[in-house]
Amino acid sequence: MDGIQLEMNFDNPGENIFAAQLRHGTFSVLCEVPAPNHDTNLKDAGERLQQLEQTVSGIKELPVSLALTSKYQYHDSWDIADFASFLDKESRGRHLIYVSGRNSRPEQVQNSLHLLAGSGFRNLAAVSGNALPGENIKQTARRPFVESVNTIKNMPGWSGTSDVFIGTTVNPFKYSHETLLGQYFKLIKKINCGAQFVVTQLGWDMMKLQELRWFLNLRSLDYPLIARLPMLTPETAENIIAGRIPGCFITPEFRHILKNELKYSRSQFLAAQWRRLQLQAAGAKLLGYSAVQLADSHTPNQIRTAARMITEALKEFSSFETWLAEYREFNGQRQVNPDVRFFYLFNNLLTKVQTDDDPRMTIAALPDCRKSELGLYHIRKFMFPHANRQGASERFIVKKVFAGCRHCSHCRLPLTRFVCPETCPKGMANGPCGSSRRFGECELGGMECIHNRIFRLSSHYKSLHELEEDYIDLVTSPARKTDGK
Ligand code: SF4
Repeated sequence: MDGIQLEMNFDNPGENIFAAQLRHGTFSVLCEVPAPNHDTNLKDAGERLQQLEQTVSGIKELPVSLALTSKYQYHDSWDIADFASFLDKESRGRHLIYVSGRNSRPEQVQNSLHLLAGSGFRNLAAVSGNALPGENIKQTARRPFVESVNTIKNMPGWSGTSDVFIGTTVNPFKYSHETLLGQYFKLIKKINCGAQFVVTQLGWDMMKLQELRWFLNLRSLDYPLIARLPMLTPETAENIIAGRIPGCFITPEFRHILKNELKYSRSQFLAAQWRRLQLQAAGAKLLGYSAVQLADSHTPNQIRTAARMITEALKEFSSFETWLAEYREFNGQRQVNPDVRFFYLFNNLLTKVQTDDDPRMTIAALPDCRKSELGLYHIRKFMFPHANRQGASERFIVKKVFAGCRHCSHCRLPLTRFVCPETCPKGMANGPCGSSRRFGECELGGMECIHNRIFRLSSHYKSLHELEEDYIDLVTSPARKTDGK
C-alpha cells in the first residue's frame, strides 16, 4: 500500500484523487482550513489558501490535501464556494469541501453546492452546523438550518454532477445509549440517502473510533472512514476541559491526563501533543480508517511537520500489538479500559484489530420512557394521529397548546413520535446533531436533546429501525428567518 502512495500522480488534472485514495485504501491526511470571517479580505485569505495548497502539493511522503470548512469557526464567514474558488482548477479533485446548513435556507445550500460542483469540486461533505457562537436557544430557534440528511438526499439528483463523492459526519464520542445510538441510526439514514464516506467529529477515544468501525462492519457497511484529530494547544486543552467546544466531550481518564500535561512547560506540552497525534493517526490506520483530518488552522510549517510525523508513525507502528503497547504506555495504562459508567457498544474493544467473529456487543437494557413522556405521547397521538396528512393550519391552536406547534409548511408530528422537531433549536428532524453535551443535554444547554426522547419512545414501541429508515423532508417554518450569513 505504501508503494501505491508514492507512485500516485497527485496532480493528474480532472481525476478525483481524493475519492480514488479512499476507495483504494491509500492512507491520506487532510488539513482543515476554515472559510474566513467576512471581516477578512477575501483576496488575502485566498492567497494564504494558495500557499497552503502549494505546501500540500509539495509533500511527497504521503498524500496530503485540504479540507475547507464552512461557517465553522466564525459568526459570519465568506461563502465556501467563493473561498474555494482560489484553489487550483486542475487539482480540485484532491480536496474536500464542507457545506454547512447553519443559518441557511435550502436554496442557499443548493446554490453553494451547484457552484462548487460546477467549478470542478467533486468531494463535498454536508454538515448541519453548530449554533452561532454566543447565541442562546431563542436566538438559534429563529435561524434556519438545513439538516445534513436533507442536503445529502438532494445531492445525487443533480444533472451532470453525478460524479460527486458525497461525505457526511458522525459524532461517535457519545457515552449513553440514546446519544450514541441516535448518532449511529442517523448515520445509517445519511448513508441510505447517498453518503459515500464518513468523517468523525473531534475526539480522542480510540475505543470509540474502533466502535464505529465495528458497528459499520457489523452492518456490512464498509464505507471509508476519516478520523478528525486535534492538535491541542494549552489554550484549546483548557477549553475542552471546561466543556466549551460543542459536542466535544472527554472521558474522566483523558481529562486527568490532559490536566497533568498542562503542568508541563509549553514546549513539553506541544511535544506530548505531537506524540499523541502520531499515535492516533497510526492507530486510526490500524483500526481501519482511510484518512485523518487535522482540525484547527495550520501554517505551512505545521502541515509539513504533521506530514513528517505521521509518516514516521505509520512506519513505526506496522502492527496493532506494537501500537497498543505504546498507546497504553503513553497514556499511563489509562483510557484503554472502559469506565463502566460510560456506554460502549462492544465489550472487547482495543483487544484486537479486526473481528473475525462478530464483535461482542455489550448486553444492557435500552432506556425506557418516563411516565410523563408516555402520557404526552398518548395524548398527542390521540389528538393528531394524521397531522402529517392534514393542512398545516388544521387544529393549529390545539397543536400549539399540546405540542408547541410553530405552524410549519407541513406537519411532521406523527413521523417523530409526536415530538415536534421545531422544539429542537436547530430544527433537526432526522436525528440528533453531533453537538449535544455530556449525557445528552442540548448543545444550547437548558434542555435535554429532543432526540433522546424520540429514541426512548421508539425503543418503548420497538420501532428503533424507523430512526434509520424514515426520511423526513424539509419544511419551512415562519419562525425561522435568515440574513443568509
Ligand atoms: S435538541 Fe438535540 S439536535 Fe437539537 S440542537 Fe439540541 S442537541 Fe442538537
